[in-house]
Amino acid sequence: MTEPMFRQVALIGIGLIGSSLSHAIRRGSLAGRIVGHAKSAETRATALELGLVAQAFDTPAAAAAGSDLVILCAPVGACGPLAAAFAPALAPGAIVTDVGSVKGCIVRDVGPYIPPGVHFIPGHPVAGTEKSGPESGFATLFDHRWCILTPPTGADPAAVDKLKAFWEACGSVVEIMDATHHDMVLAITSHLPHLIAYSIVGTADDLQAVTESEVIKFSAGGFRDFTRIAASDPIMWRDVFLNNKEAVLDMLGRFNEDLAMLQRFIRWGDGEALEKFFTRTRAIRRGIITAGQDTAAPDFGRGQSKS
Ligand code: NAP
Repeated sequence: MTEPMFRQVALIGIGLIGSSLSHAIRRGSLAGRIVGHAKSAETRATALELGLVAQAFDTPAAAAAGSDLVILCAPVGACGPLAAAFAPALAPGAIVTDVGSVKGCIVRDVGPYIPPGVHFIPGHPVAGTEKSGPESGFATLFDHRWCILTPPTGADPAAVDKLKAFWEACGSVVEIMDATHHDMVLAITSHLPHLIAYSIVGTADDLQAVTESEVIKFSAGGFRDFTRIAASDPIMWRDVFLNNKEAVLDMLGRFNEDLAMLQRFIRWGDGEALEKFFTRTRAIRRGIITAGQDTAAPDFGRGQSKS
């Protein structure tokens, strides 16, 4: 029998991403053992019941002890304190990574706690759904989806290669990127679309008092897709916006300028300008389909229920 890639993997946080990783790791026989830690006793009990972990510890340090791969799968704002708590238990040669949607803050908040001899390689699987919790994970979540790794300068190339091979075995296609660049790219491709969805659904909710059930009745006109995005986990997204502030505010400024331009085209009845703009944006959609990144649902990830 061939040796698994890792002797013991620790999942620190066992929600949608942590549980999906457990499924993918077991599908590929990538670890001898999977252990975990989650904040609540309820999640720890569910993770055990579902067989996601062999042991669910009530401290992050107990899960990290003896693990050769430690994966932070908690909201990005929780990762610094979690790393502080498990750092003393890390074994030399272990790899510490994460799945957070923002990378600069992980470098800033987690990096300083990683002891010498332990490899720190932040990561972000660009795959997800609007669901949360240990029951929501599934093995194919990462299949054919990008996983971006942002190794700090001087990271051990062998450890980076090993983590890359791990994500590939989980089904992902891996890209290596600088953390700041990651945060700028994701601000426009993921964070701003979520902010717009939250804002539109909030506006419609205010209107609903006037139009009663019509917002729901006619939601297939485009609104429905926004409601799915706006159903995403409030804590996870609070942390994303608080921790990718500069890049999101920059993209939001550009977005507001373009929106004002469209507003002017409509006010002036400039059909030619509107048509030209919409023709340009249609080509982006075609490019996504050609790149094989299309799903039946909005491309903020994909889930069993919507792809
Ligand atoms: P989730 O389903 O809400 O799960 C979060 C997990 O983290 C839960 O097990 C929770 O435990 C645990 N947790 C939260 N705070 C903690 C703390 N202080 N100490 C210990 N455990 C804590 O969230 P998720 O969707 O898996 O997201 C996890 C990470 O993946 C986030 O950083 C997010 O940015 C990233 N990500 C998400 C998606 C997506 O579409 N959802 C996609 C890519 C990356 P309890 O259940 O006990 O509270």
